[in-house]
Amino acid sequence: SAVADLLLAVDGVTVDFDGFKALDNFSLTLQRGETRVVIGPNGAGKSTLCDTIIGRVRATDGRILFRGEDIGRLPEQQIVARGICRKFQAPGVLPNLSVADNLALAARRDRRWWKSFGFGIPVGERAMVEETLDLIGLADRRAVMAGLLAHGEKQWLEIGMVVATGAELLLLDEPTAGMGPAETSRTADLIRDLGADRAVLVIDHDMSFVDQLAASVTVMHQGRFLKQGSVAEVRADPEVAAVYLGH
Ligand code: ADP
Ligand code: MG
Repeated sequence: SAVADLLLAVDGVTVDFDGFKALDNFSLTLQRGETRVVIGPNGAGKSTLCDTIIGRVRATDGRILFRGEDIGRLPEQQIVARGICRKFQAPGVLPNLSVADNLALAARRDRRWWKSFGFGIPVGERAMVEETLDLIGLADRRAVMAGLLAHGEKQWLEIGMVVATGAELLLLDEPTAGMGPAETSRTADLIRDLGADRAVLVIDHDMSFVDQLAASVTVMHQGRFLKQGSVAEVRADPEVAAVYLGH
C-alpha cells in the first residue's frame, strides 16, 4: 500500500511583523513525491512562507516540521544541511564558472571549493553533475560559462544547483520570472521531471505555468490559507476568482 511519506508540515504558522501578519495561522503539508504550487496575489505571503521554512524569517507562532523534526528554531545553514534548498527569483549562478562547475559547486555545498580550481571536479560529485545536466537539459552546454547562458538557461541551471545539493525539499520562488511562453513551458516540463524522491514547493502567479505544471494548488490570501485543489477546481472557485484571478 502507498503509505504517505510526510516530508513537510507547516502547522498553524503566524509571522507577525510589528502587528502586520504576513502569515496568519497558515498550514500546509507536503508528501515526498509531491509537487505543490502556491499562488496568491502580490503580498499574499508566498515569499514569507519560503523565508520561514528555510529559517530566514522566524515564526511568531506555530511549528514547522521537516521529516518529523521541528526545525523552527534552527539556523538557516542547519536547515539546508537537513535537505531543504531554496532557489531565489534572481539567478544566483557564478558567471565565470562553467555550467558543470556551477553544479559541482552546488553538489559540494562548499563555496570555497571553486577557489582551488585547477583540480577539476572531484570524483564524488561527477555522478550528481551528470545526472543533473541531463535533468535540466543542459548537457550540451556543460562547458559554457554560466554568465553567457540565456536567461531561461540560467534559471534551469539554478534549479539544477538546487537539485545537485541533494535536497529532498526544493523551494522554487517564481522560477518562470522573466521568461517567455516557450521557456515557461520547458520549465514546467523540468519541474515535472524532478522525480518521485523529492518534494517541490513552487511559488508562482503565472496561471498558464500553473496549468502546465498540473500539480495541486494552494491559494493564499492575506497570509491565510484560502483554498486547495486541482488547477481546474481552483480556477472554478468564485472566492479565488475574487481575490486572485480578478487581480
Ligand atoms: P508575496 O511573495 O506573496 O508577494 P510576501 O511574502 O513577499 O508576499 O509579503 C507578504 C506581506 O508581508 C507584504 O505585505 C509585505 O509587504 C510584508 N512583508 C514581507 N516581509 C516583511 C518584513 N520583513 N517586514 C515587514 N513586512 C514585510
Ligand atoms: Mg514573492
